[in-house]
Amino acid sequence: MDQTHEVINQSAPLSGYNLFTTNRPLRDALAFHSPGHDDAPLRALGETAGAAEMQQHARLANVHAPLLHSHDRFGRRVDQVEFHPSYHALMSAAVRHGLHGSAWAGGPGAHMERAAGFMLFTELEASVLCPVSMTYAVTPALRGNAPVFSEWFPRLTSTGYDPRLVPAAQKAGVTMGMGMTEKQGGSDVRANTTQATFEETTPWGRRYRLVGHKWFFSAPMCDAFLVLAQAPAGLSCFFLPRVLPDGAMNALRIQRLKDKLGNKANASSEVEFAGAQAWLVGEEGRGVPQILEMGTLTRLDCALGTTGLMRQALVLALNHASQRKAFGYRLLEHPLMRNVLADLALESEAAVALSLRLARAFDRQDDAHEALMRRVLTPVAKYWICKRGSMFSQEAMECLGGNGYVEEGGEGVMARIYREMPLNSIWEGAGNIMALDLLRALKKRDDRGQDVAAALAAELDPARGSQPGYDRLVASLLTRIDDGVEETEARRLAQDVALAVQAAMLRRHAPDFVFEAFCASRLGGDWGHAFGTLPLASNFDGIIARAMPY
Ligand SMILES: Cc1cc2nc3c(=O)[nH]c(=O)nc-3n(C[C@H](O)[C@H](O)[C@H](O)COP(=O)(O)OP(=O)(O)OC[C@H]3O[C@@H](n4cnc5c(N)ncnc54)[C@H](O)[C@@H]3O)c2cc1C
Repeated sequence: MDQTHEVINQSAPLSGYNLFTTNRPLRDALAFHSPGHDDAPLRALGETAGAAEMQQHARLANVHAPLLHSHDRFGRRVDQVEFHPSYHALMSAAVRHGLHGSAWAGGPGAHMERAAGFMLFTELEASVLCPVSMTYAVTPALRGNAPVFSEWFPRLTSTGYDPRLVPAAQKAGVTMGMGMTEKQGGSDVRANTTQATFEETTPWGRRYRLVGHKWFFSAPMCDAFLVLAQAPAGLSCFFLPRVLPDGAMNALRIQRLKDKLGNKANASSEVEFAGAQAWLVGEEGRGVPQILEMGTLTRLDCALGTTGLMRQALVLALNHASQRKAFGYRLLEHPLMRNVLADLALESEAAVALSLRLARAFDRQDDAHEALMRRVLTPVAKYWICKRGSMFSQEAMECLGGNGYVEEGGEGVMARIYREMPLNSIWEGAGNIMALDLLRALKKRDDRGQDVAAALAAELDPARGSQPGYDRLVASLLTRIDDGVEETEARRLAQDVALAVQAAMLRRHAPDFVFEAFCASRLGGDWGHAFGTLPLASNFDGIIARAMPY
């Protein structure tokens, strides 16, 4: 009686496929923003990120969570985090593909390519990208300390991954993190109590002694961090290496690792600075704008990362629905399931459209219009895409039925995605903080007197006249911005700016049927409050075929 039944009608996992070549919406958006770009590096990354071996590393790195060794067995402090070898394999691949600081040493289009690569890698494993993203983000902010920048820049941009805890001078490549959040305040960093006392001027500039703590301090095994602390002139930004130039360990104590909902492969810690040595970056008292240069880029990555997670959740749902039968038909053949999958596909493509539009603004640093777009679209994309992420992954999970909810030793990729989703919405500025930042952005004028509202109008203009719902939204949006928006309405405004820009971009690089269905549902009100409620006239076949990973 060993043979009780045969396992039938269960889907085969999606493995060994190229995440880039099979992602039509991403390739079309890239071709629009970066015409003629060489996609060989993304093809190579797409192959890596879809490989069975890498999927196994992603599973293992999440199942075998990082382990803190605060002391050795003789009672001496060591403050080291031990990772599973699979974590290092993933980190090594991400760095080798230039997803950290490399874009800063690249030519035109390097940030677009890196943005697309970041999305693809997130589909494989999101949590190792925390230190990778922080390393990308810190590189320009570090210019605030020229001697440190010139010494560290080649290592921040190098494609060599070197996890050893040794002085940076002995390493081929380095990673960096950031420390702002304290127990008494994260969004309101002005509440920081960590104290910085000036000690002496060294070849790296003004050196201070830091005493205090950070309540959230991710990837504590990075080689250095930008941290905020109170100096005599006010909150200031400091460069704090883990190992000092003479090889001694800096006085950074890892108190414990956070026990998190998801993001399991990444270590997020609580730390104390027991007289740690740190060097001033930028001006004393100007710490918030200095570190926000970094924060702006990590916010970009939150939008990119969520977009990648959405795509992976979508293709898992499509893969399952293509194979699993119920009531005599494949799930993909049932009209109502087609509505759910098409609705998810639209949301996923709209996220790609907004994410890549924002990434383009980071590629064209000297373009005045792009600078205003960077300012306004960063909080908008971070707010809206990350807000949609959790809802999206719940619906995609439901497409897999009960199997979607099961972890099974880390094989349940959908469960991992679901646990990861809320994080991008919380860290680097939670939803309200992003919406309030949009209100601040709308007050901004550049050196030519051009304001953000005018730049937004110019951005939305080309798509006008193509769809009534779009025209109505854009007209009302511009009037509302002109009249002034109350703080209470900030989320509504962020949502509407996001939807308008998504539609404007879809008009330009997606097929008509995608643009039409997006506008009819999201802008025209012909839609319900859950996914799977697209209007009957939508081109379900076209939308689903475009989203299929094979
Ligand atoms: C896994 C993880 C890793 C992290 N890693 C790091 C790290 O490496 N470095 C680091 O510095 N931080 C890190 N953080 C911290 C994160 O950035 C903060 O948690 C986040 O910025 C929110 O701060 P807070 O937790 O103090 O919440 P609060 O600031 O108390 O906010 C709570 C809520 O109040 C809202 N709120 C705040 N002010 C206003 C307002 N004026 N109007 C309306 N609503 C408001 C917020 O939107 C939020 O919803 C990490 C967090 C997590 C979960």
